[in-house]
Formats: sequence, C-alpha cells, structure tokens
Amino acid sequence: MFDKILIANRGEIALRVIRACREMGIKSVAVHSTADADAMHVRMADEAICIGPAPGTESYLNVAAIIAACEVTGAQAIHPGYGFLSENASFVQIIEDHGLTFIGPTAEHIRTMGDKITAKDTMIKLGVPCVPGSEGGVPDLAAAKKLGAEMGYPVIIKATAGGGGRGMKVAATAADMESAFMTARAEGKSNFGNDEVYIEKYLTTPRHIEIQVFGDGKGKAVHLGERDCSLQRRHQKVFEEAPGPSITPEERAKIGKVCADAVAKINYIGAGTIEFLYENGEFYFIEMNTRLQVEHPVTEAIFGVDLVREQILVAAGESMTFGQDDLEINGHSIEVRINAERLPNFAPCPGKITAYHAPGGLGVRMDSALYQGYSIPPYYDSLIGKLIVHGRDRAEALARLDRALGELIVDGIDTTTPLFHALLQEKDIHTGEYNIHWLEKWLDANMAEG
Ligand code: ADP
Repeated sequence: MFDKILIANRGEIALRVIRACREMGIKSVAVHSTADADAMHVRMADEAICIGPAPGTESYLNVAAIIAACEVTGAQAIHPGYGFLSENASFVQIIEDHGLTFIGPTAEHIRTMGDKITAKDTMIKLGVPCVPGSEGGVPDLAAAKKLGAEMGYPVIIKATAGGGGRGMKVAATAADMESAFMTARAEGKSNFGNDEVYIEKYLTTPRHIEIQVFGDGKGKAVHLGERDCSLQRRHQKVFEEAPGPSITPEERAKIGKVCADAVAKINYIGAGTIEFLYENGEFYFIEMNTRLQVEHPVTEAIFGVDLVREQILVAAGESMTFGQDDLEINGHSIEVRINAERLPNFAPCPGKITAYHAPGGLGVRMDSALYQGYSIPPYYDSLIGKLIVHGRDRAEALARLDRALGELIVDGIDTTTPLFHALLQEKDIHTGEYNIHWLEKWLDANMAEG
C-alpha cells in the first residue's frame, strides 16, 4: 500500500480523498494555487505545496509542478478527483514515466473513452446498446443532410472530442442542419481542437440514467446500479438520485450486467460511469466517464461502500473488498449541488462566507470545503457543496432533504439552495416523473431571467 498520496485537485473532492486516505492510514499531500492558500483542503491535508498562480491552467493543470510536488514530498501516487487532469491520458502517461501511480484507469482506457466516436464504436463491439446514428464521423454537410433525411429528424450533431455540454447541437428539421452542423464543428475545433463530428437520433423525452461500474484491472468487474441524473440545466446535472425512480430490479440487473461484463472484458481498473439515455424501456449509451463522478455519494449511500477507498486499493494492486453478490441496495439517496450562483440566471457569485452551518442528523452528509470566513475565489467551478441525504425509501429521502436544506446556512453570497426548496414543492419531483427537459421547462416557467 502507498504511504503517501498527492491529490491533484481542490475543493470538496480533495477533502473527500483526504478523508479516505486518513481512514486507511495513508498520508495526504494537498496542492494549491496562490489563490487557494487558505483553502480547507490545504488545512486538512498532512502536507501542502503551492503549484502556481490562481488560473487553473497555471496551477491545477500544471503537470510539471504536480510531478515536482510528488518528488519533493515523496508521494507515490496521485488521485486526480474529477475535472482538471482526471481524464487526461497524457498526464497518466507522464505520471507512469516518472514511476508514480495514477489512481484511476489506464491511459489507453481514458483515450478510448475520451473520443466519443471511438467510445461508441468500442461499446457497440462490447454489446452495449447505443443511440442509433452515423457509423463514425460525418465528413461534410452533404453527408450530414443525407443521413438526416434517412434517419428522420430531430437529430443531434456532436463533436467527438466534446464534453461538459459543449460541442452539441440539435437539428429539429432539415432546415436547421446547416447551422447545427457548422456550429458543432466550430465548437469542437475551438474548445477541444478537433472538428470531427457525428450524428445521433435526438431522443425527445429520455431520462439520464448512468451505471456505476468498478473493475480490478484483472478482468473482474461489478456494477453498483444506476443513478438518475435527469434534472439538468444546460446539460449540467443539479439533482441526482439512486436508485432511479423509473428503473425496475430486472432492468437494473440486465443493464448492470451488460456494463459490468463490458468493462471486465477490457480489464478496466477503478471507478467508471457508463451514461445512458433511457426512453420507453430502452437504454442508449451516450458516453463513459473514466473517473469518479461528482454524484458518486448517492451510490455510496445505498450500497454502504467507500468508492475512493476501493480506487486506492486497486491502484495499489490489491483486491476490491466486495463482489457483485455482496452488493445489495439499501434505501434511497438524493444529492443536490449547492453552487455559488445567483438566481434566477445562475450568475457565478464568489465572495466571503460570513456564516456557515452544515446540516446534520440521521442520513445527512454534507461534502463541502466551506468554512466561516472563507473567501470563495472567482477562478474555479462554482460548486461549493453537495448535500446528500439517505432514507429508507424515496419519500423519506425527500422529506429529509427538505429538512436538511432548512438547516443549511451559507451567508455572504448567493447560492442555488432556494432552487431546491422550490423544486420540493413540485408534484413531479415527488412522483419522480421527469425527463432531461423537465428542469429547463420549469425554469422558463418559474424563474424567468430578470
Ligand atoms: P457531454 O460529454 O458534453 O456531457 P453527453 O454526450 O454526455 O455530453 O450528453 C450530455 C447531455 O446531452 C445528456 O445528458 C442529454 O441531456 C443530452 N443528449 C446527449 N445526446 C442526446 C441524444 N442523442 N438525444 C437527446 N439528448 C441528448
């Protein structure tokens, strides 16, 4: 086992990894930018090292500084968290070239799944159901128009290198194809340096269902059921739950096995998430994330496992602590993302926290790096906390969420907390009847931008 792990991240996810390290008796090293000198992860880790100025590109994405920090502190492994360098295949290569261990999948797995066309092609070969669409890339507008006519509208044009909701455009009819195709291409080029695009049938009322998988890198893999992340704003998740309210035990067992078998076949190592759209009882693969997800705590809650601990174990060459037969769902869990944003238009709202009180009590987990007197810097993601609740069933989890939100105090800045208070008044949230477009429509009707 490792003696010391460096965490190449900040905020709540850095704390998450530090906590797992501490329970395992492993020393932790925090890295930070000059803007984060007073951040909670710096205070909580056993050691901390400054790796550059405020902008992420010069600090948390500064590979040379991170490698140097490992050398100076004697850290043997790097946990990347999510975002930043977590899905960067060349970073993994460089780490390994320096004799260090990356806590995550191999560079090859990251590369395969990071290119959406290659990922889809791989999944089709592994027997995973995919959204109908073009075979590989679509070279030009004429080919796109021909495909659109054959498949029938609406269709979605996606940049193969896209991510974070960027590089995707819907063409509702043939008349939209030219602008959708050109825009998706241009966004792929300008955001990701790759203008290759492909086309998929656009599903009109799907839910977003993702399967958590975990492999030991030696051909053994399990699934930990699904998360429903259908409540999204601009393709960004805001409310996640497990199990999915629309998924039956039979469906879970079937799609879960397809996913576990697929990742076992490629000797996948560590945590991964296979994302699907789900409509009329069918699953359609859209992408695989080769890292820990923001919303992993809802899965931890219902299975009672520590996914970060398991990531560290398999990275060190040890066995996972559970097999498929050990995994049984217990109750229901919901996570809401608390962002430093001002409603109704979700404008980022960094600033000084004048008072902070985290909710507690049975079945409540608050993953946050906030503290009273902390100043949220303006340079990074606006996620400042994840409130996760667990109940014996969905109704209990929702009541607990309402209660916990009422206890949360974050003064000095605006947050997205009022959004969740308002959502909990909605019948559809209580019946679980929503798809990926529900929240956008609700926001248009209830939070017209001022
Ligand atoms: P990204 O990598 O940018 O997150 P994804 O491929 O995961 O992109 O898609 C993000 C979201 O976009 C999905 O959760 C869904 O809301 C929407 N989406 C993607 N593909 C389709 C599709 N074929 N039909 C309808 N919506 C889609």
